[in-house]
Amino acid sequence: PSREQVANFAAGPAAMLTPVVEQFGKDFVNFLDLGMGVAEISHRSKQGGGIVSSAEENLRKLYKLPDDFSILFMQGGGTEQFAAVLYNIYAHHAAKRPEVAKDLVANYVVTGAWSKKAYLEAERLGFPCHIAVDMKQVSGKYDSLPRKEDLNFTPADKTAFVYYCDNETVHGVEFNGPLEHVPEGVIRVVDTSSNFISRKMDFSHYDVVFAGAQKNAGPAGITIVFVRNSILERPEPKELHKVGIPVGPTVGDYKIMADNHSLYNTLPIATLHAINLGFDYMLAHGGLENLENESNEKSQLLYQTLEKYPLFKVVVKPEARSRMNITFRIEPESLEAEFLSGAEKLHLMQLKGHRSVGGIRASLYNAVTLEQTKRLVAYVEEFAKSH
Ligand code: PLP
Repeated sequence: PSREQVANFAAGPAAMLTPVVEQFGKDFVNFLDLGMGVAEISHRSKQGGGIVSSAEENLRKLYKLPDDFSILFMQGGGTEQFAAVLYNIYAHHAAKRPEVAKDLVANYVVTGAWSKKAYLEAERLGFPCHIAVDMKQVSGKYDSLPRKEDLNFTPADKTAFVYYCDNETVHGVEFNGPLEHVPEGVIRVVDTSSNFISRKMDFSHYDVVFAGAQKNAGPAGITIVFVRNSILERPEPKELHKVGIPVGPTVGDYKIMADNHSLYNTLPIATLHAINLGFDYMLAHGGLENLENESNEKSQLLYQTLEKYPLFKVVVKPEARSRMNITFRIEPESLEAEFLSGAEKLHLMQLKGHRSVGGIRASLYNAVTLEQTKRLVAYVEEFAKSH
């Protein structure tokens, strides 16, 4: 089939905007009339550096990012950030309270597979860590958001940071605003990998925000990190060793990355260019406000259709439903394979749920159009009527 015929509902790597892909194709062959492709130029060239500054400027505009935040472009994906936040934030605490820093506790709010994985990384690396809530224990499955009474944080002066995942890609659970009830003064870390650039954010509620690019922003290979500048203050590694704080790898070090404008080592400039073409496009088409409206419209349309038919079971409770990853089951489950193969015949692709949970998952990221969503909705209606 052609690109126009296919609607790609993948959870990531995900569909990209067609105008971006087309421009990128040209730039991959010959960038800015250099006679060289964008993957063939140095990350330290004028044009390479230009991509980094332009991507940063675009993100600042899109998010109206306060000046006291730095933007870092890193590698290693969201998974690398699970570790990086630990090394960086513990090092930061050592600047202020060297005697107690190593005993502070990282608090995790677990609402699905990805926040759980982040917690497990803290445990694996041997940092003192604590699950403030695991919603599976509260609710029996990952289908809801924590209430105030569910959250059991360590006292603020004993806490390294509070961590949560804004949108759980596997389970389809999304926070509808910043996490509330975090003790005053505690550093807040949020993984926005799968709902990045899909709505406005008030940065007074966050200290570290990170996102892998491969869902809403472009191809895999770059992770965007917004970090409050105060967190970059930290003692030198040999001082950290003295107070028992582990020193993480150079490539995950926020301060080194910030001091070098993300060009400490070889950044995949071509990947960043593809991402930045997306930012250009989004800025020229109404920015985050428009993306937020579109994602609300697309997801509501699909949820409302699913709710009409008892054949479909949306597992996640209404207030916790993701705008990005719409997860549902079909009853009996034996119909799910039929649903998927029927969808593929209509070029409605990559709708299979995550291997760990099964079922169906339709990811409606920014590059999935309303028209494509309507095609899926029409298929859902037709499937319901014929079963
Ligand atoms: N966080 C979330 C919310 C994700 O969806 C994913 C991957 O799908 C990750 C983190 C891990 O990202 P990566 O595969 O880039 O390491």
